[in-house]
Amino acid sequence: MSARPAARAAELRELLTRASRAYYLDDRPIMPDAEYDRLFRELEALEAADPSLRTADSPTLRVGADVGPSHLAKHAHLAPMISLANAMSDEELQAWEDRAAKEAGEAVRAAGYSVELKIDGSAVSLTYRDGLLVTAATRGNGTIGEDITANIRTIREVPLRLDGTGWPAVIEIRGEVYISNDAFDRMNDERVAAGEPVFANARNSAAGTLRQKDPRETAKRPLQFFGYTFAVPDDAALPFRSQTEVLDRLAAWGIPTAPHRKRFTALAEVHAWAHTVEHELRAALPFEIDGLVVKVDPIALQVELGIVEGQRVPRWAIARKFKATIEETTLVAIHVNVGRTGKLNPWAELAPVEIGGVTVRNATLHNAQLVAQKDLRVGDTVQVRRAGDVIPQVIGPVPEKRPPGAVPWVPPTTCPVCGTAVVREEGEVDVYCPNVACDGRRLEALIHFASRNAMDIRGLSEARVAQLVEAGLVRDAADFYDRDRVNVEALVALEGFAAKSAAQLVAAIDASKAQPLARLLFALGLRHVGEGAAELLAQHFGTMDKLAKAELAEIEAVRGVGPIIAASVHAWFRHAWARHLVERLRAAGLTLSQPQAVESDGALKGLTVVLTGTLPTLSRQQATQLVEQAGGRVTDSVSKKTSLLVAGADAGSKLDKARTLGVTVIDEEELLRRIGRTA
Ligand code: NAD
Repeated sequence: MSARPAARAAELRELLTRASRAYYLDDRPIMPDAEYDRLFRELEALEAADPSLRTADSPTLRVGADVGPSHLAKHAHLAPMISLANAMSDEELQAWEDRAAKEAGEAVRAAGYSVELKIDGSAVSLTYRDGLLVTAATRGNGTIGEDITANIRTIREVPLRLDGTGWPAVIEIRGEVYISNDAFDRMNDERVAAGEPVFANARNSAAGTLRQKDPRETAKRPLQFFGYTFAVPDDAALPFRSQTEVLDRLAAWGIPTAPHRKRFTALAEVHAWAHTVEHELRAALPFEIDGLVVKVDPIALQVELGIVEGQRVPRWAIARKFKATIEETTLVAIHVNVGRTGKLNPWAELAPVEIGGVTVRNATLHNAQLVAQKDLRVGDTVQVRRAGDVIPQVIGPVPEKRPPGAVPWVPPTTCPVCGTAVVREEGEVDVYCPNVACDGRRLEALIHFASRNAMDIRGLSEARVAQLVEAGLVRDAADFYDRDRVNVEALVALEGFAAKSAAQLVAAIDASKAQPLARLLFALGLRHVGEGAAELLAQHFGTMDKLAKAELAEIEAVRGVGPIIAASVHAWFRHAWARHLVERLRAAGLTLSQPQAVESDGALKGLTVVLTGTLPTLSRQQATQLVEQAGGRVTDSVSKKTSLLVAGADAGSKLDKARTLGVTVIDEEELLRRIGRTA
């Protein structure tokens, strides 16, 4: 605090007034609410210590902001629309009750409290004459607001005519216009797409929408309304006895009221409820709240307690505010991560800041387009939101606090991990690294490769893939098949592997070599190539080589394959790393072809074939598949009926038996020649 209170008070008045104008009139706050509240309290403390510092224009004596010249007509409220004092803790709430008891007697403590959600929206007043909605106005400076009747009429749940009976001839129903979290997110997405600045929070977006010039624009926004209090002309009798009754009657007249309202008789119960709402209910609500409002229930007591003298708040109600979810800090750096699909995710490194009791050091920035849209610059003071368990987000910069020389962020044109040129598809906001071998997306890509619908490598779970990657054994899909890397000894050295499980995994990986081209294509994770597209491509082209050489038009011509898939596939095979990967898979003995429908007059038609020993390139499964495609039948044991024995290295008794029986013995090369598949 400044050593010179008068100067500091003047500074605070100036700052708070500027902030209020930005907040109430432009719907573009220049500081987070938490900071506004801190400065406001600092000014209150200075004024309390030295009342001569309380000037007539002090923000501590005002509600909202004076409405300036605008396209909207002015509206004078029947009775002032005031604000609420804040209690930030149980102790402050207790102090409020103590003050009230001092003012109106101890009976206050047992009179009952109406406890309501404090909706973070924009206060409005709806005037009903003889049950018909005639005007709607903003709070403005509490006495004069702006006429927003046309806009309010677009909110479906605000009744144009009150239901039931018993309403006073003239009544102003006060409440909060708000926007749900979903609608708020959608609205901001649309604004980004349209190149418009986003709203910092739901309250600002509701307030901004409410003051729109064109009600047709307002009608497109799903604004909502909750009523919570009323005003009647001075000479009218009070129509209600308690706040609880107010809410019941409003509801009966068709006015929406907020859920989760409670009536408690002891403040201890209010404390407990406040904790439950802050820590449990708040995150589950479909709209923003910033606290609870605690009101002395009997209206007679409210009248007795009245308004804090010369000030802007009642004595009979208080806002029990929750910890702020938005704070300001410095944007230290913008980094980019590569996600599993190759999506580039920019994120913010922040100067550590405490938000809601948790120290936040980084926050998501969603996508590069949004960073550009918000014009976030390294060095900026930024507003950061952390709500519940949600990942903290950077809302936007505070342009007034931008350091000189801060330069706009330039999104990467190449992947920050592997250097491959990034791609962005039309109509998409996200930017991708197309390199499936990119370190950044390696783990997820490898998990996908081994997964059941892809290469279906039994025993190669997500955790195991992560283990192999961490141990440095596997960097890309071809490494799984590289026995210099992944072998029994190397696996046994890892936690959780015994000789048997290691051998089983190696065998399972080997068995996957025989998976047909369709599965391999899907496993390689080319963008837009799902199982269906992989199958169509594999069926059409038959081999990886043919697909790799295919022109764009040829791929597009495949029935069921659209231009987006075709472009993705065509582009993929043009990358050097992709071709290299395919070559290594080929060298490892993977089937780079698709079994075609069995050739009824295939080269091995009617022949019975036995396989023995280790073939140089083909797995047992692959060889079997090839023989069957060529019309042959594979059996296990050699007999007189055996037509051919295909023998590889270390062939044993079957080879001897075949020789004894005079069965023709061939090697892999001869087999491939006979079936017309010489490499
Ligand atoms: P407030 O929002 O703290 O509390 C009063 C308001 O609560 C009422 O006017 C009403 O609109 C609302 N409310 C919601 N549910 C209610 C219920 N069930 N019963 C009664 N009222 C209910 O006070 P305020 O005067 O609207 O605004 C002051 C606050 O606005 C500050 O504490 C600050 O957080 C924020 N503000 C921020 C800036 C900034 O620069 N960020 C500037 C000005 C004000």
